[in-house]
Amino acid sequence: MPELPEVETIKRGLQNKIVNLKIKDIKVLNPNSFQGDTQKAEKQKVNKVWRRAKVLGLDLDNNLTLLFHLKMSGQLVYQGKRLFVGGHPTQDMKDQMPNRSTRVIFTFSDNSKLYFNDQRKFGWIKLLDQIKDLTFLKDLGPEPLDKSFTVEVLKEKISKRKNMAVKVAIMDQTLISGVGNIYASEACFDAKIDPKKKVGNLSEPEFRALHQGIIKSLEDGITHGGSSRAHFVNAGGEKGYFLDYANVYNREGDLCKRCGGMIKKIQLGGRGTYFCPNCQS
Ligand SMILES: [Zn+2]
Repeated sequence: MPELPEVETIKRGLQNKIVNLKIKDIKVLNPNSFQGDTQKAEKQKVNKVWRRAKVLGLDLDNNLTLLFHLKMSGQLVYQGKRLFVGGHPTQDMKDQMPNRSTRVIFTFSDNSKLYFNDQRKFGWIKLLDQIKDLTFLKDLGPEPLDKSFTVEVLKEKISKRKNMAVKVAIMDQTLISGVGNIYASEACFDAKIDPKKKVGNLSEPEFRALHQGIIKSLEDGITHGGSSRAHFVNAGGEKGYFLDYANVYNREGDLCKRCGGMIKKIQLGGRGTYFCPNCQS
């Protein structure tokens, strides 16, 4: 499932390509994949591409926004001068478009195309009013990659759950948005904090280390192309796979890259959690 780094990678890639282009035409091949009147988005210019948590937004000239959620298997393929692919990886994502899983096709004023592919059809595109309809995004916690996400903000947010395990708290989307299971394990490792440790027992230096660990693990995810297995192609056309670089995630029984201890897997808040009991305390 595409996590924050994949969606951020798509945002950064599309930004350079479709901002200031007009949407010429939208063809909906699967009605459930697009909610809204396509005609209201046609002939409109794309003013901005943004991301909030795992949602991607395209702001249009007429104060409407196209919102994308990739869910389990969504992917976006942009065919302009260069091919740009992001989201859930599949064998055929670099082949001829459209393909069997193409649900919506956008054509821009320069005849470049954006394909929304979604094998399992859980993903969606919604055309919404920027002022009236986007209020639900305000319920999400702060963006970890935003400059306004300081140590103080992290501390204030997760301290609302003093008895909660640190890893579970940083995955709570109302406290911080967009930190998924993989990056939460990695952030705790980076901060040398036992993921089971209660928020209320964190020291000041640990809050600082955790803050840094969250940002670092997400940035590393972006640098290495995200966590979706194989065939992920970033904005520069390079293949990437963050899990080849992960320190603890999916490394049960392997040796810790920092101290040589053995990586352990436990269940925490119902999710597989990886850590090094030797150097995370
Ligand atoms: Zn270790």
